[in-house]
Amino acid sequence: MPRSDGGERYPLTQHIGCMNPTQQCELLGLCLQELTEALGRLGEAPYRARQVLDGLYRQRWSSLERFTTLSAALRRRLSEAGFTIGWPRVEQKFISGDGTVRYLLGFADGQSVETVWMPEGDGGEAGDGSPSGDEELEELRPTPHRAERSEAGKAAERSRKHPIPEGQASADFQQSRRNRQRATICVSTQVGCAVDCAFCMTALLGLRRNLTAGEIIAQILAVLHDQQVEVERDRLNLVFMGQGEPFLNYDNFMRAVRLLVEGVGIPESRMTVSTSGIVPRIADFGAEPVRPKLAVSLNAPNEPLRTRIMPITKKWTLAKLMAALRDFPLRNRERLTFEYVLLGGINDDLQHAREVVDLVRGLKAKVNLIALNPGPEIPFATPAEDRVLAFQSVLTRAGIPAFIRRPRGRDIYAACGQLKHTRELVQLAP
Ligand code: SAH
Ligand code: SF4
Repeated sequence: MPRSDGGERYPLTQHIGCMNPTQQCELLGLCLQELTEALGRLGEAPYRARQVLDGLYRQRWSSLERFTTLSAALRRRLSEAGFTIGWPRVEQKFISGDGTVRYLLGFADGQSVETVWMPEGDGGEAGDGSPSGDEELEELRPTPHRAERSEAGKAAERSRKHPIPEGQASADFQQSRRNRQRATICVSTQVGCAVDCAFCMTALLGLRRNLTAGEIIAQILAVLHDQQVEVERDRLNLVFMGQGEPFLNYDNFMRAVRLLVEGVGIPESRMTVSTSGIVPRIADFGAEPVRPKLAVSLNAPNEPLRTRIMPITKKWTLAKLMAALRDFPLRNRERLTFEYVLLGGINDDLQHAREVVDLVRGLKAKVNLIALNPGPEIPFATPAEDRVLAFQSVLTRAGIPAFIRRPRGRDIYAACGQLKHTRELVQLAP
């Protein structure tokens, strides 16, 4: 059923009711109860549903033939009943000099999204009160042994200058892959985005469509497979900060979260969702029993400036957004994250920093500063580093934890706000 905020309910009845061989029924995205129902219609016992759940999400089997826990006859019957597993195709894969990988993943209807693999993450969770935030804080602490602990960091340092063509990743990266400690996947929730922020390349695509829960999960499974991640061994974080506004595809996004926790085995404390400020969904999100951590793209400290760079502020004002955040039920130790993209000469004044202090004071929150990641058609400049540091110090001196996010994969258009299906790499200004 369409919703007034642009989200859509996942058409479950259509999926699990499907016994018609001419119709395709997607298994990815179904929960245990729905699998039990679907298999029950084929006369199968409930334990079969558990086996399918395990094969889909834990084993990451991408086709029915690989479900060796089921009999060949049952696999055939599932296939004849129209059931499929819709993993996306890796259409393109770009590898950055810093180890970041940008995947262009294509779905059956020809639409594609981007999903980004960041060895060691980008520091975005530092200080948010979670285990992954503590790990990032630890990484930021300058100790003489830090470089020894971080194989991927050393490799990134050595090969920062030049992106590595696919298939020729350096021996250092291969080594760091084996010793992996921590990585983050940046996940898309829509194809394109309708929100139209002035500094974001995804906005230029417009909204093409919502992703289903199965498609959101399939991106993660495809990257985990390609990077040979063992969820139980590696410290994996998910950030829903790729293409799209997750809270405008709320039901599919939340369904995906629940399946990632229950099916794939990634704890919600290792997930962060970022919203541009879809106020009614913030309250819904706060009431969820299982939910990721919340980040909000603030980007400007007053109504006129925010309206100029994030026109959605006309619909949901900064005042309403801040009121919703003051009511948001945080967990023990949890902090809200405010994202603030610094646009040179627009929102990076020290006066703006003081306004951010006034807005955020009293909330259990931290601020992530992101110097604009540039791109063609983006009419803003990246501020100089000393301005970013000066902005940060106004916040920290006022007692507000503020961190500067490391740009990851700028050379391959994989950094925040650069996801726009870019197939050719354009030389970026230094
Ligand atoms: N739509 C959601 C999540 C995806 S955008 C949101 O807006 O929150 C993820 C983050 O990238 C947001 O904080 C956004 O403000 C930031 N961003 C967008 N364009 C950017 C750019 N060109 N440079 C740096 N950060 C950018
Ligand atoms: Fe959409 Fe987020 Fe980009 Fe704004 S910043 S256009 S909400 S993806």
